Amino acid sequence: MAYIAPLARLIEHFRALPGIGAKTAVRLAYHVLDMKESDARALASAILAAKEKIGFCSICCDIADHDPCAICSAESRDHSVICVVEQPQDVQAMERMRNFKGVYHVLHGALSPLDGVGPSDIRLKELLARLKDDTVKEVIMATNPNVEGEATAMYIAKLLKPMGIKVTRIAQGLSIGGDLEYADEMTLSKAMENRREI
Ligand SMILES: [Zn+2]
Repeated sequence: MAYIAPLARLIEHFRALPGIGAKTAVRLAYHVLDMKESDARALASAILAAKEKIGFCSICCDIADHDPCAICSAESRDHSVICVVEQPQDVQAMERMRNFKGVYHVLHGALSPLDGVGPSDIRLKELLARLKDDTVKEVIMATNPNVEGEATAMYIAKLLKPMGIKVTRIAQGLSIGGDLEYADEMTLSKAMENRREI
């Protein structure tokens, strides 16, 4: 039996979300039908507000509701050390460990020739632009410990070496193939502490 049209449409949208299977999509859609109208409105407006009010920091490319973001504009941060990560979620993971005082750069992806993702598809030129004056002393490559993350770290290290910038890679305490986003604080702290020059 087919779902009535507005319900089918809602199911379809939930189904398109990451990690949501067919059954969960149906369950969520029915849950929305059971919600009070005010709650449904609040949910819809939270989605719209997140899209409208969150943009990107023009310096580090992280998501932000102000430009530059809070970290880039903080005088208490060490602007001579840039930690390069793949996704905004990784900045959150790094900030949870509380002992990194440098700043970030979010690539929004990793190099993956097989998937057609090349250097111009990630925020690489924005990173290079930040290195033009001599304020940056170290770039820490904290891309994910998988094939794409490693390739990205190596590619960027090769580009930066001739510029006289120290490039380091976080240690492999993280599980291979794992995601930085899901690493616990202890593991991340250790990986940062034991970073080595590449
Ligand atoms: Zn920023």
